[in-house]
Amino acid sequence: MTDDVLFQQDNPVTDIANPIATLRDSLSAIVGADHVLTDPALMDQYVEDWSRRWRGDAALVVRPGTTDEVAGVLRECTSRGVAVVPQGGNTGLVGGSVPAPGSSSVVLSTRRLDSFGEVDDLSGQVTVGAGATLGDVQRHAAAAGWHYGVDLAARDSATIGGTVATNAGGIHVVAFGMTRLQIVGIEAVLADGTVLSHLSGMLKDNTGYDLGSLFCGSEGTLGVITAVRLRLHRPVGRTSVALIGASSYDEAIALMSSAVDPSVRLLAAEVTDEQGMELAARLNGTAWPLAERHPLVVLLEVEDGGDASGFTGLDDEADVVVGLDASEQARLWAYRESQGEAFTALGITHKLDVSVPLPLLAACADELRGIVGGWPTVQNFGVFGHLADGNIHVEMFGPDADDLGVDLAVLECVARYGGSVSAEHGVGRAKAGELHLCRSAEEIAAMRAIKAAWDPTGLMNPGVIFG
Ligand SMILES: Cc1cc2nc3c(=O)[nH]c(=O)nc-3n(C[C@H](O)[C@H](O)[C@H](O)COP(=O)(O)OP(=O)(O)OC[C@H]3O[C@@H](n4cnc5c(N)ncnc54)[C@H](O)[C@@H]3O)c2cc1C
Repeated sequence: MTDDVLFQQDNPVTDIANPIATLRDSLSAIVGADHVLTDPALMDQYVEDWSRRWRGDAALVVRPGTTDEVAGVLRECTSRGVAVVPQGGNTGLVGGSVPAPGSSSVVLSTRRLDSFGEVDDLSGQVTVGAGATLGDVQRHAAAAGWHYGVDLAARDSATIGGTVATNAGGIHVVAFGMTRLQIVGIEAVLADGTVLSHLSGMLKDNTGYDLGSLFCGSEGTLGVITAVRLRLHRPVGRTSVALIGASSYDEAIALMSSAVDPSVRLLAAEVTDEQGMELAARLNGTAWPLAERHPLVVLLEVEDGGDASGFTGLDDEADVVVGLDASEQARLWAYRESQGEAFTALGITHKLDVSVPLPLLAACADELRGIVGGWPTVQNFGVFGHLADGNIHVEMFGPDADDLGVDLAVLECVARYGGSVSAEHGVGRAKAGELHLCRSAEEIAAMRAIKAAWDPTGLMNPGVIFG
C-alpha cells in the first residue's frame, strides 16, 4: 500500500470533485478550522524537515489539541483511505517526519498536545502530552526537584512523542539509558481511532504484553502517541566537563576509563574529529579550544561536585581543558553539540547514525574514515558521536542528495562489524532499504505482522521502516 491510494473512489462520503475540500471540512469540524492548514505557505514548515534533506507533499496539515480530537482525525482519515504522517518537532533526520514527494497524505502535528501533569514526588514520575518539547519537560522536572534522563541538541524543538517514537538516545545514554528506559506508560491512538491508554504509573505491572513498548521506536507506523508517563531521576549534582585531545579512536575509548575516577558517575562521553571541531568553531565564531591540534577531541562529563576531582590519570602530556562553571561547560559542549548544524550549514548533507559493539568501534570508525575520505564526490566529512554507546555519526557533504552510493558503503561496512544501521535516529525512509542488513527476515516478518494487526490498511506513515 502506498500513500497515494487516497480518497478512495468507492467512498460515498468523499466529494470526488474536490476531495481535499471535503476532508478539510470534516477535519475542521473535529479540530476547528484554524487548525487545518491547506495554504502551501503555512504548510511549508511541516513538509520539509530540519535538515532540508527531506521534503514531500501533503493534502493538508491537521493540528488536534486533545486525544479525542486525534482519535476523530484518525477515524476520519481511515474511513476515507487517507494516509497519515504523525509529526512532532520535525527534527528527525531520516525522512520519517514528512510525507514523500507526490504524496497526498495528511500531516498530523502533535505540537498542541503539550499538557504537563504535576510531578508525583512519591514515585518520581510525570505525565506529559506528546507535543511537549524535550526542553520543557526537562525544565518542568527540574522545577519540581527532579531530572529527566534524556538530552539532545534539538531539545527545544523535539517533542516527547517524537523522542518516544524514535526511541531517542542523545548525550546521557551512558548514565540514564535510551528513551525506552524512561517510559512507565503510554497513551496512543490507532489508525481506526481506538485509544490505548495505560498511564497509571505502576512500575510493577505484569499483566500481559507491554503495548507501550511497541510504540517506542515505531516511528509513527503503528499509531499516534498522545501522552507519556515518564520516570524521573534524582537531580544531578555539580559536574565537571573536560575536552581532551586524542590521536585515535582506541585512545579515545581508553580515556573513558583511564581519565575518570571510578567512584564518580560518568554522565557523557563524546568524540568529535578535527574537521568537525573546525566547522563548529567557524559556525560559532570560536577558537580551537586546546593547545594543539589532534585528530580527535574527547568530551567527558562527570558528576564530581564540580571541582574536577573526577578526572584522574591525565598525565602532564595530556592536552586538556576543564570546565567547572555552567558557562564554561556550555562553551566546551558547543563544539560537539554544533556538529549537525555545522555540517548542515555546508548545504544538503548525508547524515548517517550507526552503532557497533564498543570493542569494535575503533576499527570500524577507522575503516569508515577510509571509505568516506576516499569517496570521489565527498568534499567534507565528519565521523563523531556518542563514544560510550558505540554510536558513530557520519556526516558527508558533496554527493548529490539522491546519490546514495557512499551511504550504502558505510552501512554495509557497519553490517560487517555486526552493527546497526540506525543507532538512535530510526529507520525512516532513509534506511528502509537497508533494514535487512541488521535485522533478520524472521524479525522483519514479526514486525510486519504487528503493523498489519494495528494498522491493517497501512495508512500510518507508509514507506517508513519497511519501505
Ligand atoms: C541538531 C540535532 C541534534 C540531534 N541529536 C540527536 C541525538 O543526540 N540523539 C537522537 O536520538 N536524536 C537526535 N536528533 C534527531 C531528533 O531530534 C530525534 O529523532 C527526535 O526524537 C525527534 O523528535 P521530533 O519531535 O522532532 O520528531 P519528528 O521529527 O517530528 O518525528 C520523528 C519520527 O517520529 C514520528 N512521530 C513523531 N511524533 C509522534 C507521535 N506523537 N506519535 C507517533 N509518531 C510520532 C514521526 O512520524 C517520525 O517518524 C537530533 C536532531 C537534530 C536536528
